[in-house]
Amino acid sequence: MSEEINPFESLREQVDDAAAHLDVRPGTLERLKRPERVLETNLSVELDDGSIEMFRAYRSQFNGARGPYKGGIRYHPGVSRDEVKALSGWMAYKCAVVDIPYGGGKGGIVVDPDDYSEAELERLTRAFATELRPIIGENRDIPAPDVNTGRREMNWIKDTYETLENTTEPGVITGKAPESGGSAGRVEATGRSVMLTAREAFDYLEKEIEGATVAVQGYGNAGSIAAKLLEDRGASVVAVSDSSGAAYDPDGLDAQAVKERKDETGDVVDYDAPETLSNEELLTLDVDLLVPAALENAIDADLAADVRADVIVEAANGPLTPDADDVLTERDVSVFPDILANAGGVTVSYFEWVQNRQRFYWSEQRVNDELETVIVDAFDRLTTTFEDRDLPNFRTAAYVVAIDRVLRASEQGGVWP
Ligand code: NAD
Repeated sequence: MSEEINPFESLREQVDDAAAHLDVRPGTLERLKRPERVLETNLSVELDDGSIEMFRAYRSQFNGARGPYKGGIRYHPGVSRDEVKALSGWMAYKCAVVDIPYGGGKGGIVVDPDDYSEAELERLTRAFATELRPIIGENRDIPAPDVNTGRREMNWIKDTYETLENTTEPGVITGKAPESGGSAGRVEATGRSVMLTAREAFDYLEKEIEGATVAVQGYGNAGSIAAKLLEDRGASVVAVSDSSGAAYDPDGLDAQAVKERKDETGDVVDYDAPETLSNEELLTLDVDLLVPAALENAIDADLAADVRADVIVEAANGPLTPDADDVLTERDVSVFPDILANAGGVTVSYFEWVQNRQRFYWSEQRVNDELETVIVDAFDRLTTTFEDRDLPNFRTAAYVVAIDRVLRASEQGGVWP
């Protein structure tokens, strides 16, 4: 259920909603709603047939008050200036809510990577890395993977940067392969923080996670790992979906078996479940926990009126439209927001950067333990703020915590010149 919503306007609205509960001067408020700078560049790339094609690319650096900018690079035909601006803002507030020392960044190239060969994508990535070189660095701006990019692209960017700078600086980028300085536990990190948020949420709401029924929309990296880890904690994952539709078993699916089937055929509906559902039916199932883990704006106000889950933990970025959020607040559905629940990815990226800088690598157990500490501390701070300030919902509480941290760091720096 996607609406035509400008993500940058959504970000600005979320900041306004939270800032209403803080003492922020108007000029300062505007500062919290715009990136510090946006690089817009046009990359010329030679294709395999010898022709030249131009690609538009962006990098937005949102707020450097708390540390270097940090955020992914996406390759998608829908990338736009406003989208990267919004995503960089969400990264800044996500890093602040879990209290890791970064500002937000985000970048993207307007491209459908399926239309190009690996050699063409390598030339495109290296062209972008060359443009990014003056503004990135382990103390400036640290990119990471996002939609349609992964270890391969990160390794190309690292190699281009290190070659041009004549240095060894693995911390310039995160999401690398382990052999190139990647961290243990990074692949599972987002699903793990979703599970930890759900576990803490159920505990806070005095509900049992054991035996709780769960529906997961989107069965990729974040959704499938969250489902498996929730199942390990005794929850019953009754429905999971991808763009093909949903597999449903009221008695509980086998999360790992569904994942293996999807890996074989590409579709969760190929799993031998008693029933299949549409995505809309999955989102309105009567379950204890709903985990949207696919795309932004998956639930609009109309659909929100029909949601029957008691608790929503957002694995995807921005899966609820602002209107849907209002409807769910009105209906007393507890929504635990993306900037906390999926912050495991950036938190373990931070651990990767720390390990790169120290040239000292941690065990997976240590990564998981440190991540648990970060998420549980952030959850406690969020719920304390929610209660102390009598806030309308947990999303506003997350933004109040995050904006307060960014604001204090910015104000301590003052305005210069
Ligand atoms: P992914 O590509 O691995 O998985 C996405 C899944 O969603 C796929 O199974 C796809 O089939 C499914 N999907 C697409 N359209 C759908 C639709 N209309 N209905 C149902 N399912 C649909 O992506 P991912 O890495 O798991 O990311 C998912 C979300 O989580 C995104 O919003 C992403 O920004 C967010 N996120 C991911 C990470 C991470 O580390 N992977 C970190 C932070 C946030």
